[in-house]
Amino acid sequence: MKLRIAVQSKGRLNEDTMHLLAEAGIKVGTSKRTLLVSSKNFPMEVLFLRDDDIPQTVADGVADVGIVGLNELREKEADARIVKNLGFGGCRLSIALPKEQPYSGVADLAGRKIATSYPVILRNYLEQQGVQADIHVITGSVEISTGIGLADAIFDIVSSGSTLVSNNLREVETVLESEAVMIANNGLSPEKQAILDELLFRIGSVMSAADKKYVLMNAPRESLDAILAVLPGIKSPTVMPLAQEGWCSIHTVLDEACFWEIIGRLKAAGAEGILVLPIEKMIL
Ligand code: ATP
Ligand code: MG
Repeated sequence: MKLRIAVQSKGRLNEDTMHLLAEAGIKVGTSKRTLLVSSKNFPMEVLFLRDDDIPQTVADGVADVGIVGLNELREKEADARIVKNLGFGGCRLSIALPKEQPYSGVADLAGRKIATSYPVILRNYLEQQGVQADIHVITGSVEISTGIGLADAIFDIVSSGSTLVSNNLREVETVLESEAVMIANNGLSPEKQAILDELLFRIGSVMSAADKKYVLMNAPRESLDAILAVLPGIKSPTVMPLAQEGWCSIHTVLDEACFWEIIGRLKAAGAEGILVLPIEKMIL
């Protein structure tokens, strides 16, 4: 019994997807990439597809699970469930207008021609807003549509916004916040569900470790209370005596986000010889 996972064969999600599987300890040969590759050490096979085809493939059960952008899942309206948000491939789907065009709200889009590769999401949004506009479907280079007179507005993927700026566009409505998600077929057998559960457990351990650091430091005993007051460890920090009289070693786990701020306060409180180590997995 193998769990078949559909992933993007090349493109923006491929690298992070393969990296995540590797971190989860799943070996997939990448030397000669064929459409379907079995893992050597996990009951899983990987099906490499264009991202457009992933939602339907999972809905049909040709693949059991898949990793795809939420935008693609919503666009295809495929009958598959989201089992995990994966925290990479972040972007948003937005409506943008030529910079000089006045805009005071969605109603201004009535009767306008909007170019997009995501007609389903756009249609649903406009319907929900009660706005009638003319949706013009194009598959690539949506951002140049207004510049060449093809449309009055665009609806497209935005990440940094620099593409919009360089095409003289201004983002006016964010319709969908997207990231890569793991999706699953709705009728998985108990055996396949068990493999998926193991996969999700491993991915969870990798993801919880990703933004954490293991921090060690030495401090005089009398500084201990001041240092502990600064530390927001996962549970309580480990404190061990050092061979040198009156000194101890403190170990804890810190969020990378609050890291620099806390390091400064630890030093001020008397910590010395601070070591910061990456954490590979965190089993919660
Ligand atoms: P395929 O050949 O598989 O159809 P594609 O060209 O449709 O690939 P990519 O450009 O590789 O798709 O993007 C895949 C996904 O990456 C998008 O659907 C989206 O979820 C996500 N993504 C994240 N940032 C961006 C970005 N700046 N531009 C486009 N997609 C992004
Ligand atoms: Mg695609």
